[in-house]
Amino acid sequence: MKNGQTKRAVVAGGAGFLGSHLCEALLGDGVQVWCVDNLQTGQRRTVRRLEQHPGFTFVEADVIEAGFAAMLPRRVDMIFNLACAASPVQYQADPEHTLLTSVVGTRNLLRLAEQRGARFLLTSTSEVYGDPEVHPQTESYRGNVSCTGPRACYDEGKRAAESLALDFHRAGRADIRIVRIFNTYGPRMRSDDGRVVSNIITQALDGSDITIYGDGSQTRSFCYVDDLIDGLMRLMRYEGVQPGPVNMGNPAELTVAELVEQVLALTGSRSSVVHMALPEDDPRRRRPDIHRARELLGWAPHTTLTEGLRETVRWFSQLRAETAPRVLGNGSDHLVA
Ligand code: NAD
Ligand code: UDP
Repeated sequence: MKNGQTKRAVVAGGAGFLGSHLCEALLGDGVQVWCVDNLQTGQRRTVRRLEQHPGFTFVEADVIEAGFAAMLPRRVDMIFNLACAASPVQYQADPEHTLLTSVVGTRNLLRLAEQRGARFLLTSTSEVYGDPEVHPQTESYRGNVSCTGPRACYDEGKRAAESLALDFHRAGRADIRIVRIFNTYGPRMRSDDGRVVSNIITQALDGSDITIYGDGSQTRSFCYVDDLIDGLMRLMRYEGVQPGPVNMGNPAELTVAELVEQVLALTGSRSSVVHMALPEDDPRRRRPDIHRARELLGWAPHTTLTEGLRETVRWFSQLRAETAPRVLGNGSDHLVA
């Protein structure tokens, strides 16, 4: 509540993987939510259950087109900007749109924050560090990003979005927060999004070949979605002086090959592993330094990789059971093999 009024939040990208969890957490906190999404990588069915909630409104719109603001209420307290495809395969499918989403879309949302006097949170990314030469990555590291490669539409877009947000802050135009998210996974990822966790769990459950790009020695640090959402909520609520960008992720680092071993063990799958070409500019290693988040917000992830993967495997298994094609028989349904 703010001055006796229910708080209101806009979640751009709210029909995506992280956005849907955030909308749910906000509703659970008694916040009214306007979810703005163009359904590029998000899906309406992801938020279908939330649409039963009286505090939830879905607005189908592209944040690049400034007109979406007219569909939002006059009073808004918080704006979370999660709009942007996050999977390399998906953000490279339409690189121009990806870049404009981060630059023009973020400017439109910052202007909305300025007009409505709302606090603004940008979901930036560990990709601002590119293929890092400093390990683990601290917020003060300026990164090693290619501005000409296939990942640039995403990496440079997010870097520009951070610049814009901090320019609005310096000019006193908006109260802003920036979080740099490291690889996050969990239920509600799309099985076809092309990211490593969704790919290998889907492949393991299907019994099809597990695709490792390169030799599998590249590292990532995987954070479970519930931990990350807790961090986003804490950062939005943070009342101290402008903290600058804050890393959020799980510092437990492992190679892609080790991740595959864990998934094979958890699923009991007998899938074979095949090696494919490593994509251009694929970062060799990545691990967050999360001291700033700990000190400012008292935040740290609590879910182990095994616990998080188990939940994610359970969710993908359930999804497969629900969406498997069925043939209607004599009074009973027969699953098609
Ligand atoms: P996602 O692709 O599942 O969700 C992104 C959502 O934004 C989708 O619903 C999509 O339809 C929507 N969207 C894209 N462009 C839009 C536009 N122009 N206008 C309106 N809606 C638009 O991805 P996610 O994993 O949920 O990521 C959410 C945010 O967090 C992204 O901004 C991403 O860059 C950031 N992030 C995520 C991770 C991660 O590991 N999941 C890591 C770093 C940063
Ligand atoms: N990867 C892989 N097999 C896959 C998908 C991805 O080996 O089927 C690798 C990818 O090359 C990268 C890591 O897994 O090194 C993480 O990829 P993802 O697309 O999930 O996220 P990124 O961190 O690269 O943005």
